[in-house]
Amino acid sequence: MTSRPSQRKRVLSGMRSTGKLHLGNFVGALDNWVRMQDEYDCFFFVADWHALTTDYADTSRIKENSLEVLLDWLAAGLDPERCTMFIQSHVPQHAELHLLFSMITPLGWLERVPTYKEQRDNIAEKDLSTYGFLGYPVLQAADILIYKGDFVPVGEDQVPHVELTREIARRFNMFYTRKGMYVFPEPQPLLTPAAKLPGTDGRKMSKSYGNTILLTDPESVVRQKLKTMVTDPARVRRTDPGNPDVCPVGDLHKIFSDRPTILKVDEGCRSAGIGCIECKSAMADNLIKWIEPIRERRIEHEKNPARVLEILNEGSTKARDEAQKTMARVREAVFGWDSKRKEIFGAAGE
Ligand code: SF4
Repeated sequence: MTSRPSQRKRVLSGMRSTGKLHLGNFVGALDNWVRMQDEYDCFFFVADWHALTTDYADTSRIKENSLEVLLDWLAAGLDPERCTMFIQSHVPQHAELHLLFSMITPLGWLERVPTYKEQRDNIAEKDLSTYGFLGYPVLQAADILIYKGDFVPVGEDQVPHVELTREIARRFNMFYTRKGMYVFPEPQPLLTPAAKLPGTDGRKMSKSYGNTILLTDPESVVRQKLKTMVTDPARVRRTDPGNPDVCPVGDLHKIFSDRPTILKVDEGCRSAGIGCIECKSAMADNLIKWIEPIRERRIEHEKNPARVLEILNEGSTKARDEAQKTMARVREAVFGWDSKRKEIFGAAGE
């Protein structure tokens, strides 16, 4: 087994290089990552190869988008002293393992991944009938297993992906076990409670819907976005009572406001005691207070691009070292080459 600097369990997770992050990214994942840094040995990567599975035709912004994600991670509180951050394509061993996994993964396993059909139907403007798009869960399996991750933090909808990773690990171990030693442990999903975070149009907050509030949005932009946010359609006039449980602004209050404000909104909305303008303005105040420290930290990091690149470099080096150890084992298991032979692999296994 790979030796670890600590006895902490290892956590693996990544985010696509989609550029500046929004509140949905924070609530759905990043906030949880920040909390996990002290409890687990965390590896977080910007998934630029995954971005290619849908955005292969135009890579002109992919590098900048990767750096934007990294800056937002640092601004949100990920700390290079407490976790490992890197860019997926800077660790080419992921691709090698992906290739080997693609040899043993039956097509049927991939075709029945729920997000495969769903995304192909939803992203109609792009041709997703590609080998890379079908195979992205195999790449995901390589991303996780190359670090022998114990846990993968996921929402309920991502559990089938972790299950597929476990199946691939099992199949690999079944074919390529030498001297009774399994190469891969089976990772477990670490369920993240999914907070309902609507975008400004009431649908799930997502870049592809153009309904996001970014972690980098300045005060005036946050206020403007809140002003145009949809509300409970029952409140046509100021005197109409509403229901904060069916209003996207009400949902935001439940996540970002304190208890007295939530109670005030609940009572005021149902009795028409407050208007939507007042309610949205209170939401904007809270959100700005909440975003401001993140924005300030981000500005500090932007002033020091050399340090950001250094963080990336240190993270990628550490990730490559770990990945190389696993690949030495993998090559030995599949092909029989001695993993300790430096002259064959450039770097020794363990
Ligand atoms: S008062 Fe607030 S919660 Fe109620 S409908 Fe208006 S914006 Fe939504």
